[in-house]
Amino acid sequence: MAEYGLIEGGGTKFVLGVADGAGAIRARERLPTTTPDETLGRAIAWFRAQGLAPGAIGIACFGPLQLDPQAPDFGHVTHTVKPHWNGADVIGPFRAAFGCPVGIETDVNGAALAESLWGAGQGRRSLLYVTVGTGVGGGFIADGTLLRGASHPEMGHIRVPRHPGDRFAGDCAFHGDCLEGLVAGPAIRARWGQPLSGLGAEEAEVVAWYLGQAIATWQATLQPDRIVLGGGVMETTGLLERVREAAAAAGGDYFAGDPREIVVAPGLGADSGLRGALAVAQRAAGR
Ligand code: ZN
Repeated sequence: MAEYGLIEGGGTKFVLGVADGAGAIRARERLPTTTPDETLGRAIAWFRAQGLAPGAIGIACFGPLQLDPQAPDFGHVTHTVKPHWNGADVIGPFRAAFGCPVGIETDVNGAALAESLWGAGQGRRSLLYVTVGTGVGGGFIADGTLLRGASHPEMGHIRVPRHPGDRFAGDCAFHGDCLEGLVAGPAIRARWGQPLSGLGAEEAEVVAWYLGQAIATWQATLQPDRIVLGGGVMETTGLLERVREAAAAAGGDYFAGDPREIVVAPGLGADSGLRGALAVAQRAAGR
C-alpha cells in the first residue's frame, strides 16, 4: 500500500511526516517557517530523501486558505499579515513534485478531523476544535463533514463582550479587540509582557472569561457535543478548568451539553496536527 506524505504547516515551524498505508507515522522532521520557496522546497527535498513515493499528500496549514477547488487560487494562503506568505501557493509545489493527489485543509480543520476520528471526539457526532495559540481558530465537523461556507470558518475573529477589568485595546491587525486580538499568545504578551504560564490567577481568569463568552457563542450557533481546546496558551496549568467554569456561567445552563463535561483537551496531544495531515491525505486518496 502506498505511503502518505504529511505536512503540518505552522506560522513558526513546519512539521513533516511519512505514514504507511495503515496510518503509522514512520519518520518526522521539523523545519522553520521562512519563505514559501525555501520552506516548501526543503519539505520536498526531505520527502525525497525519505524515498517517499506517495499515494497522496495531506497538508494541514495555517490560514486563511482558499479551499474552493474551483477557484484559480485553490490552496493558496490569503489575507495573512505573515511576511512572504500572502498569496503563497502551498499545494502547487507538491503536486508538481510528486504528481499524486494532494489534499489541503486549515490546520484547525485538520485537527478537528483527527480528533474526531482518533482522539477526543470518538463516538461523538459533532466536534468543535479550537486552537488558542499564536492565533485563535476553530474547525467544526458533524457526521464526518467539515463546516464550510464561502470559505472556512474564522471563529477566532468574533466579537466578545469586554471584561469589565480589561482595558487592553486588542492587537488583531484587522479587528483590534476581536477574540484573537484579546487572548492569543501575542495579545497576552502585548498586554502583560509575558506568556500566560508566567502570570497569575488574575490574568488567567481574564483569558478564561473571554474564552467562556466565546464558547457560549459557539454553543449557541453550533451546539457541538464535544469542544476540544488546543494550542500553546491552553497548556497553561489550570486554564482548561477555569474556561469550563467560565463557559458554564456564560451559557447559563441553556445549551445542550454542560461545558464542564464537553470541553476537553486534545486526545491526540501534540500529535493532532500531523494526524490531521494524515486524515487530509487519506481523504485526498479517496479513503
Ligand atoms: Zn480579528
